[in-house]
Amino acid sequence: MAEFDFDAVVVGAGAVGLACAYALSQRGLSVAVFEQEKAIGQGVSSRNSEVIHGGLYYPTGSLKARLCVAGRRALYAFLDAHHVDYDRCGKLVVVTTEAELARLDAILEQALTNGVEGMARLSKAEAQALEPELQCEGALISPNSGVFDSHGYMLALQGEIEAAGGAVVLSTPFEGAQPLAGGGFRVRAGGEEPAELSCRRLVTAPGLSAQAVAARIEGFPAGEIPKGHYGKGMYFRLVGKAPFARLIYPPPIHGALGTHYRRDLGGQAVFGPDLTFVDELDYSVDPAAAPAFAAYISKFWPGLPDGALTPDYAGIRPKLHGPDEPQPDFRIDGADRHGLEGLVALFGIESPGLTSSLAIGEEVAARLGL
Ligand SMILES: Cc1cc2nc3c(=O)[nH]c(=O)nc-3n(C[C@H](O)[C@H](O)[C@H](O)COP(=O)(O)OP(=O)(O)OC[C@H]3O[C@@H](n4cnc5c(N)ncnc54)[C@H](O)[C@@H]3O)c2cc1C
Repeated sequence: MAEFDFDAVVVGAGAVGLACAYALSQRGLSVAVFEQEKAIGQGVSSRNSEVIHGGLYYPTGSLKARLCVAGRRALYAFLDAHHVDYDRCGKLVVVTTEAELARLDAILEQALTNGVEGMARLSKAEAQALEPELQCEGALISPNSGVFDSHGYMLALQGEIEAAGGAVVLSTPFEGAQPLAGGGFRVRAGGEEPAELSCRRLVTAPGLSAQAVAARIEGFPAGEIPKGHYGKGMYFRLVGKAPFARLIYPPPIHGALGTHYRRDLGGQAVFGPDLTFVDELDYSVDPAAAPAFAAYISKFWPGLPDGALTPDYAGIRPKLHGPDEPQPDFRIDGADRHGLEGLVALFGIESPGLTSSLAIGEEVAARLGL
């Protein structure tokens, strides 16, 4: 009889938890993913921009910088291999006043430091030649940014995990874990058929519940659980023809990349997300925000028709900072931080978490010594 029921348990079947389980199952481990919802990918991974980020902005040496670039490269290869739809449409970072031109230089320098391929500075005329409806004073082009079918991606990950003998167990909330004397964990799962099982390694990737899940692991030091914040972002959809082929991004705002334009895989134009710190998981989209969105968008698209924006959806970022605090890096915490051998706990996996997911999986495997 095996010493443990599973080599590894992963909590959460969002893009990141599935990518972690995929990385572990590719190394020959038996893996179970516990997901509290009835289907995979119903959390943060279902309410985002589905943008494959280049990795331009993130500070030198950060996990975000390294894992976004590595994750993007791995993601395109994975999508190709699994026939998942994407559009490597490219992105323009645009400024609409001459005073902001220096911001483009700073972003370009950071992108080059981060190893982002194909970046170039464009004059106003060059940018407008690519996108005739664009108003700007200058731009950067990131040719390897794109949009993709994130649910197709998660289904492909699930397929790989199951093909390797792993299990994605739905309607199964993680309720707690207890370190075992000789190593490994006893894990309690709830739901209709509560169960207990043992595993050698435990990975927690529960998105917005990261703090609550860590608090249910016996021996996890309370002082090592970072305070969580909710950063809500709303989207509006354009009624009418999509005006640009490429992603259009003004420079980032504090705490987010800010409201941008994308043409989704269905060919429709979507604008968002803004950023508001909220106390509740409230996914409503306030139609009264449309004029503020329109004012912002018309700076780079003066042709936006009146009344053309319709409320679409909202997502909530699992943030580790409040409105006036600096934005920290991803937290991928191993035993050196929390003291529990065999456990990796993820916190604050906001953007670019989707793009980075495969690289986060590799990083988690490395932290587990695999
Ligand atoms: C508005 C917005 C826009 C974004 N845009 C982009 C983008 O364009 N590109 C990009 O790269 N990133 C983007 N991101 C970030 C990206 O969406 C996230 O980093 C990523 O989806 C996080 O995935 P996850 O698996 O960590 O979390 P989730 O997808 O939330 O998955 C966590 C899972 O854990 C489950 N869970 C929680 N608690 C338990 C429990 N106790 N037991 C069992 N299961 C549990 C949840 O049900 C959920 O399914 C955006 C995020 C937001 C909010």
